[in-house]
Amino acid sequence: MKVLIVGGGGREHALAWKCAQSPRVAQVFVAPGNAGTALESNTRNVAIAADDLEALLEFAAREAIDLTIVGPEGPLVGGIVDRFNAAGLRCFGPTRAAARLEGSKAYTKEFLARHGIPSARHASFTRSNFSADYVRAQPLPVVVKADGLAAGKGVLICETHEAALGACRGMLAGEFGAAGETIVVEEFLRGEEVSFIVIAHDQQVLPLATSQDHKRRDDGDRGPNTGGMGAYSPAPIVDAALHERIMREVIAPTLKGLRADGNPYTGFLYAGLMIAPDGTPNVLEFNCRFGDPETQPIMMRLRSDLTALCEGALDGRLDSLCADWDERAALGVVMAAGGYPESFRKGEPIDGLAAAARLPGKVFHAGTRARGSEIVTNGGRVLCAVGLGCDIVAARRQAYDLVAAIHWNLVQYRRDIGHRAIARELGVVPISGG
Ligand code: AMP
Repeated sequence: MKVLIVGGGGREHALAWKCAQSPRVAQVFVAPGNAGTALESNTRNVAIAADDLEALLEFAAREAIDLTIVGPEGPLVGGIVDRFNAAGLRCFGPTRAAARLEGSKAYTKEFLARHGIPSARHASFTRSNFSADYVRAQPLPVVVKADGLAAGKGVLICETHEAALGACRGMLAGEFGAAGETIVVEEFLRGEEVSFIVIAHDQQVLPLATSQDHKRRDDGDRGPNTGGMGAYSPAPIVDAALHERIMREVIAPTLKGLRADGNPYTGFLYAGLMIAPDGTPNVLEFNCRFGDPETQPIMMRLRSDLTALCEGALDGRLDSLCADWDERAALGVVMAAGGYPESFRKGEPIDGLAAAARLPGKVFHAGTRARGSEIVTNGGRVLCAVGLGCDIVAARRQAYDLVAAIHWNLVQYRRDIGHRAIARELGVVPISGG
């Protein structure tokens, strides 16, 4: 079969790498891909942007693509699945209406409240009904979110009321464009964050391996929020009891609610959860696709054929499938351009990729491109080095050995990816999250 992966980041490299291993797959195309996907066997980059739905549709029809898997949220929220379905092409992901779960935070907060799914207290505002008094009355810190897609940058955790008011006014004044026309002001939740990702088809659900990521840029979970600086799988905090609770209190009512609202869901469903000290799985957000960088360690552990799982879901056979996992832990360290998530340089030559390729583990590319015979940086998050090991400590060692082999001018990465899980492995339970 022929598979098309839409997107060009680390997540898409991991999805393409995994699909290309399937004996059922003759050819993987990645649109637009990166320098890493270009090097994988049976894999070819296609120069089409991930949000150019017209060109993607035309390409998929011309190449008779059997299965399209969409990486980023933009094309999903833009209705790629509806377009492909209408043309009789199989595209794995939610419809535009179901993808609203990621496309609008105000809608999602209202959805969560209506279906009794645990989440932070909140209020939504537009310019016409904004209440500074409401913001001033909230306990600190206050969380301010732009309603729409803002590439992971639309969430501000404000330590003072002045900062919160400034964030609200900035968003409402258009700092995030249309994404900030509506804002959500939310209670700050304490606890430990978990990424819980499932494959769903209406009420059928196949949970994937658990994972945790690090959103803050700097060691000790400090500094600005980013798209993610590293991730590992499994998440040791998710024991069998918590797993069952998340399925019962979050995943099942969400899929049921979507069906009841007339928007049954197919695709990867990612619940970003804050596990409260009493074990309550509060929903921070939903993503209508796989996480980045969680995909990288999760794909390293997946033994089953991803294309068979996606096709099984599309065929309504998900209940009869199960996913087979490598028992080992996987941990990925994101190597980013200096300055990320603010301004950063592109075009820096990357040294050491060939040496890293001879080591155990796998380096997934994100923001990279080929320039002549060299590979240069082409984005904020550049690479994700993933190690495997009998536990998180061993996986981390392998990942950082890969990192040590690679260098470019102004590279930055965190040195403490997995610190929470490792504290847990060593029997030290962390006090708080953040
Ligand atoms: P979101 O895009 O809504 O997941 O927010 C991005 C990140 O901001 C999350 O992964 C959390 O680390 C943090 N965050 C969002 N909402 C809250 C909240 N209500 N309380 C504490 N942290 C939050």
